[in-house]
Amino acid sequence: MYYKTLPVVLSLVFVPCVAWAEKHDHKHEHEETRQGHVHEHGVSALKIAIEGKQIEMELEAPGHDIVGFEHEAKSDEDKAAVEKAIKLLKQPLSLISFPAKAGCKLASSEVEVHKEGEEGHAEFHVHWEFTCTDMNAITPLQTKIFSQFPNMEEIDIEAISEKGQTAIELEKGAVEIDLSAVVGS
Ligand SMILES: [Zn+2]
Repeated sequence: MYYKTLPVVLSLVFVPCVAWAEKHDHKHEHEETRQGHVHEHGVSALKIAIEGKQIEMELEAPGHDIVGFEHEAKSDEDKAAVEKAIKLLKQPLSLISFPAKAGCKLASSEVEVHKEGEEGHAEFHVHWEFTCTDMNAITPLQTKIFSQFPNMEEIDIEAISEKGQTAIELEKGAVEIDLSAVVGS
């Protein structure tokens, strides 16, 4: 008699435990995912893709790094700062320049401002395309990005080409980007 009721009792005890554990794991994963979207102030990311005669670059920079704030620009001063930054980012050859013999020209340029996560972190998303006549001559690139955006502390660069890929941590004050790992034969 007692043995027959035992499995029923056990299942009643275990079911709520399993349900709780699943719920708990799910919540944990969700929190991690959300944190993954929030950028680190001072750290921008630059992706460089080289293919044929084209170089594509994508810059993701916290608003903090570009204009020093991330709230919605309402005052004239803040609006002017955002407009000035967009203008600068739309002319990347004043931020990043290639050796003259590479014959690189700007093909397209797009700048967007996004809000990331629930904390209201604004981020600049920039997309640049360049065409070059001699891709073997593009390295090293010269950059004025740290002097133009003094709040920027670091740029994490990932570059990829048919030759391979490389990751570069560019520290504040750097003026050169060495792409020799992905350029040339
Ligand atoms: Zn932020």
